[in-house]
Amino acid sequence: MSIQATCSSFGVGISSFVSPLTRSRHRTLIRAQVQPSEKSVEIMRKFSEQYARKSGTYFCVDKGVTSVVIKGLAEHKDTLGAPLCPCRHYDDKPAEAGQGFWNCPCVPMRERKECHCMLFLTPENDFAGKEQTISFDEIKEATANM
Ligand code: SF4
Repeated sequence: MSIQATCSSFGVGISSFVSPLTRSRHRTLIRAQVQPSEKSVEIMRKFSEQYARKSGTYFCVDKGVTSVVIKGLAEHKDTLGAPLCPCRHYDDKPAEAGQGFWNCPCVPMRERKECHCMLFLTPENDFAGKEQTISFDEIKEATANM
């Protein structure tokens, strides 16, 4: 099992990981065309902390993963007006954001605590850490080279 967070000069990405939910290899890409605003990063940071507490889930032991997903959500909030899940491919992002199924927290998370982005992990998940908090500075540091 491995977690591999990667970044490029134009965006952020979790290039690939073995999903603890399915035990199969997935390729998940998070691409941000523009850097999200600090305001949206902060909004999504606070949302993530609150929702982790509310749902009884924890951030990944590798906070780099958490940081990348929060930035991806923030980028979608800026560009689409909604925190569309950043770990999926969409043919029509505005339509998906309008439909709402994949707006965070998505329906699979709300109904079954399934977060394929590994932002919200149940305690028994092999990748779950012990924290439900992440600071703005942690996100900034973890994504500094993106
Ligand atoms: Fe994506 Fe759903 Fe996880 Fe939010 S809860 S990051 S929408 S998979």
